[in-house]
Amino acid sequence: MEIIDGKKLSQSIKDEIKESVAQLKAEGKNIPHLAAILIGSDPASESYVRSKVRSCDYVGFESTLIRKDDSITEAELLDIVRELNENDDVDGFIVQLPLPKHIDEVKVTLAIDPKKDVDGFHPVNFGRMAQGLPCYLPATPYGILQMLDRYNIETSGKHVVVVGRSNIVGTPMSILLSRKAKVGNATVTLTHSRTKDLTAELLRADIVIAAIGIPEFISGDQIKEGAVIIDVGINRVEDESRKAGYRLVGDVEWDSVSPKASYITPVPGGVGPMTVTSLLMNTLKASAKEIYG
Ligand code: NAD
Repeated sequence: MEIIDGKKLSQSIKDEIKESVAQLKAEGKNIPHLAAILIGSDPASESYVRSKVRSCDYVGFESTLIRKDDSITEAELLDIVRELNENDDVDGFIVQLPLPKHIDEVKVTLAIDPKKDVDGFHPVNFGRMAQGLPCYLPATPYGILQMLDRYNIETSGKHVVVVGRSNIVGTPMSILLSRKAKVGNATVTLTHSRTKDLTAELLRADIVIAAIGIPEFISGDQIKEGAVIIDVGINRVEDESRKAGYRLVGDVEWDSVSPKASYITPVPGGVGPMTVTSLLMNTLKASAKEIYG
């Protein structure tokens, strides 16, 4: 069994980006600028945004963090989105989800200019992805593609079972892996909460992508010997022995699944760090006007 080290891989990609930025600086070209909007004080969102800003600093991007409290109205947030759409200084921006209940996430996502949608959540980017056109790929699936690619894991002709059909992970993952592309050409089964016999589907999988959000939901007896396991889940479980009072676990049960896997991503230190790296890669493309000209 080989561990897919997302932390190490993400570090080497960040170093590549850092080099590209140094070259841009040397040539007197524009430095990529990412902005992030953070609403409220959800601890997980705060930690994700902190890590995004830190990563920008590391690679030499400019970054702007716009923080507002929970009381912001939908109209006020839409105004900020419009300002960022029009600000030529900002190459790309993200609105950290989830948003407070009184704000419509779909409305906010639709208000983002697809040219600056470096999270790849806007339906224009999603549609372009589905048709194989140039687009910003959604950050988490993009990170997973990078992992499969750089660990030379063959996907062509393999049977992939994706568990979970969210718009940001499961559904785009199923589209990307079935595309005619270097990391693609797989036969994909997309499973979800209404799937009748998940175990039967999983036992046929050469590659499992687990994006459910239930701690240690998939166990070793549901996995074929030698399967590749990509665990997207990030779940907090109570743990009195930790200073924070909790620890992070994935959607697969590490102890029973890892001995059967050929490759597996750990939680933490697997898919999570790659998601941030993808965002940087998309911002670099935005700054170079690589997707939309
Ligand atoms: P979501 O809640 O939007 O979707 C969960 C999916 O799981 C749904 O499509 C649902 O049908 C499916 N599901 C629920 N119960 C099921 C069952 N019993 N059997 C089969 N399928 C079932 O979740 P999401 O936004 O895709 O996130 C999933 C997990 O991934 C969460 O733990 C989240 O924190 C994590 N996540 C991690 C990253 C990262 O960077 N590593 C990024 C995004 C999400």
